[in-house]
Amino acid sequence: MPLIIICGIPSSGKTTRAKQITQYFLNRFSSQEKIGNVHLINDESLGITKDSYKDTRVEEKKARASLISAVERLVSKEDVVIADGMNYIKGYRYQLYCIARAIYCGTPIEIAREWNFNRGEEGYEATIFDELVSRFEEPDDRNRWDSPLFTVLYDDPVPSYDGIWDAIIVKKAKPPNLST
Ligand code: ADP
Ligand code: MG
Repeated sequence: MPLIIICGIPSSGKTTRAKQITQYFLNRFSSQEKIGNVHLINDESLGITKDSYKDTRVEEKKARASLISAVERLVSKEDVVIADGMNYIKGYRYQLYCIARAIYCGTPIEIAREWNFNRGEEGYEATIFDELVSRFEEPDDRNRWDSPLFTVLYDDPVPSYDGIWDAIIVKKAKPPNLST
């Protein structure tokens, strides 16, 4: 049932974290504690290219709609769904909030810009990067749809994801931020 929403500016490490968390859940599921499936949804699996973020916002709207429908299709009682995308619009996160737990890749813009540059062809074009950064609405756990919110800081190579497990599988009270 739980849906984990990754959010953050372009090249802030979302896909990297999404893969770590997927692996973390697979390990814990297979080490007897509970049995469940993990579904990772991202632009690649939905066939969304970085050009979708380019000129019009029509393509982007389609991209958001296809993420929502994939989520609706995959969310079930037993399974964990991880939505790896920018998820930068407050209203969009609100749409998903009742089933969501958000992971925020807290990476400073200058660091993400550098990571993006290092990606070369794989990265976002500089103008798209700036545009997306300016549109990103930072999550705030005082908003109920952004809560609980787990922030992973850019300089923590492999944070403990136990807090996420506790919050969504064991259903313990909201843990503190992972990187603090
Ligand atoms: P996003 O999905 O947010 O666009 P990625 O996870 O694809 O970001 O990471 C963007 C780039 O930054 C990749 O080249 C990745 O290898 C690099 N990167 C990601 N996390 C870190 C990190 N913690 N330290 C250094 N480089 C990183
Ligand atoms: Mg990515």
